[in-house]
Amino acid sequence: MGSELPSPVLELTGVRAGYGRIQVLHGVDLIVPRGTIVGLLGPNGAGKSTTIGVISGQVPTSTGAVTMLGHDVTGAGADALARAGVCTIPEGRGMFPNLTVDENVWMFTHRGVSTREARDIAYDHFPVLAERRSMMAGRLSGGEQQMLALARALATRPSLLLLDELSMGLAPIIVEQLYEQVAAVTAGGVGILLVEQFAGHVLDVADQVAVMVNGRIRAAGRPHEMAEALSGVYLGG
Ligand code: ATP
Repeated sequence: MGSELPSPVLELTGVRAGYGRIQVLHGVDLIVPRGTIVGLLGPNGAGKSTTIGVISGQVPTSTGAVTMLGHDVTGAGADALARAGVCTIPEGRGMFPNLTVDENVWMFTHRGVSTREARDIAYDHFPVLAERRSMMAGRLSGGEQQMLALARALATRPSLLLLDELSMGLAPIIVEQLYEQVAAVTAGGVGILLVEQFAGHVLDVADQVAVMVNGRIRAAGRPHEMAEALSGVYLGG
């Protein structure tokens, strides 16, 4: 690793965390460099959502460190992390179905981004949403709802996007299109942690992939290097 590599947006070092006395993460190391997509894959119950919880300040770290853009943010609360540029799109789409597309984008404006800027950011990335700006968000297709969730997230000018099961319930062709748009987002330098249960298109779009099992990273590397680790995990090897 040379010094010419961009500094990471996020770094987890030896993170142990859980719920009360139940430890779920047993020493997790993970790096998300600027402008890249890191896929975090693993079976049901592996600890992926807990990892997102740690990074977004919802789940306390018992030992280990969380660093954002070179600053130690271990133990920081959700508000402080949001201000530091962490934006999470939770499992099951983060949007208000009874508000219009425009209102949804507007609801998310903070951190010094004006409504107009937010709309420009959202609609430049997702022109189809501009065409639907007066429609109730709940009437959008599943793929468009995820686009809206992404658009809202981008409107906060995040440094780090945490995407939890973005593909859930969507047809493969829609997932492929959505991931292409996710990949385009990294051009602005945003780091993305793409959490999914199944490898699918993650291997096509991610720069790096980490495979999590039982609260530990079992393997990490380039997507094409992960085939063996993944088949071992999913076939119970
Ligand atoms: P999934 O794909 O099903 O969301 P995951 O990899 O995201 O799985 P987690 O949701 O992080 O896994 O769960 C890891 C472990 O932590 C599981 O054993 C789960 O039962 C436990 N767990 C999750 N949330 C809580 C909680 N609020 N309280 C106690 N245990 C929890």
